Amino acid sequence: MERTLTILKPDCVRKQLIGAVIDKIERAGFRVVAMKKTRLTQATAGEFYAVHRERPFYGELVEFMSSGPCVPMILEKENAVADFRTLIGATDPAQADEGTVRKLYADSKGENIVHGSDSAENAAVEAGFFFSAEEVVRVD
Ligand code: ADP
Repeated sequence: MERTLTILKPDCVRKQLIGAVIDKIERAGFRVVAMKKTRLTQATAGEFYAVHRERPFYGELVEFMSSGPCVPMILEKENAVADFRTLIGATDPAQADEGTVRKLYADSKGENIVHGSDSAENAAVEAGFFFSAEEVVRVD
């Protein structure tokens, strides 16, 4: 079993797509082991995406990710990191495969509905960013 960290981004929450996206996630075989609704500040969004600090879109990304509530989740499945990235599709919805979350619901490269960790190591770091040990409970 592997874990990945996703965030249903502020555009997902604004468009009232939380349920639709979680439905796709569960149907694809992922188990939700932790979930909350929260709002990042500019400081915490900046910290979460610190690896992109030098990129031209960093300011826009921090602005967007702190623009409203989001829903971080820890998901579990065999091969969770890679399978989740397949489920959500390419960063740019115009490049994303048919049927992927971003192809279905995203408006642009920046406002692209969901985050998905790019490695198991980063997933663990990102999970710790949002959740305490007591909040990570798989009961099934
Ligand atoms: P992914 O989320 O698909 O792993 P990246 O790690 O490359 O993509 O980028 C992180 C996030 O930064 C993206 O999901 C998107 O919200 C934003 N982003 C990436 N590239 C751009 C861009 N060219 N313009 C605006 N926002 C971008």
